[in-house]
Amino acid sequence: MTAPAPPRRRSELVRRLERIPPFPRPRPELEQVATPAAAAAELLYEALGRGDIEDRSVLDLGSGTGRLAIGAAWLGARSVRAIEVDPAAVSIARATTRTLGLPVEFEEGAVADVAGTAVDTVVMNPPFGAQRRGADRPFWDAAFRRARGAIYAFALSDSRTFIAHRAVERGAHVESNRPIAWELPRIFPHHRRTTVRLAVDLWAIRIGPPP
Ligand code: SAH
Repeated sequence: MTAPAPPRRRSELVRRLERIPPFPRPRPELEQVATPAAAAAELLYEALGRGDIEDRSVLDLGSGTGRLAIGAAWLGARSVRAIEVDPAAVSIARATTRTLGLPVEFEEGAVADVAGTAVDTVVMNPPFGAQRRGADRPFWDAAFRRARGAIYAFALSDSRTFIAHRAVERGAHVESNRPIAWELPRIFPHHRRTTVRLAVDLWAIRIGPPP
C-alpha cells in the first residue's frame, strides 16, 4: 500500500491523530495515557520546524498505540522505530500502521534495554512518574543514549530541574522548554473530575554544546 500524502495543515494532522485509537484498557501502573492529539501535533511540528523529522531517523520511546511514531512518519520521517513494553498496545499500533502503509517498526521491549544504532531524533511521551516516582528516568537515560541529533518530549513542569541538569551532564542543551495545554479525559478510577488538567512542558533538546 502506498503511504498517504503528508497532512497539508496542522488541523489535518490533529484529525488524523485523533483517529489513532487510544488504549482500550489503560494500565495505570504503566501510565498509559494516549497523548492528546493537539499536544502530539504540537510536539511533531516543533520537531519538524527545527529540521528534525523530514528525512530523519526517529525513535519513539514508550510508543503506546503509536500516535507520535505514526505522526512522525506522516510528516516525512525516513524511518521510525518505536519501543513499547505492553504487547497489547504494540499489536494495536502494528495493525494501524499496516493499514496505513507507513515506514514504522514497533518493537516490544523496555526502554532501558533499547540497543542498536543511534537515531537522529528521539520523540517521547514518557510516564510522568505520577504513579511511580522516577518512572520517567529510564526514558530520559535511553533518550540521551540513543539520540545523536535532538530529543522532543513531554514532562511534568515539576521535572524541569532534573531534565535541565541531565541535559548538561550529557553534553546537550535546551533549545526550548514551554508549558503547553494538556487536558485529558478521565481515564483512571483515581481521577475524580471528568477532565484532568496537568502542568506539562514540551522540551526541545539538542545534543552537543550550545552554539
Ligand atoms: N507515546 C504514546 C503513549 C504514551 S503513554 C502516545 O503518545 O500516545 C506511556 C507509554 O509508555 C505507555 O504505552 C506505557 O505502556 C509505556 N511504558 C511504560 N513504561 C515503559 C518501559 N519501561 N518501557 C517501554 N515502554 C514503557
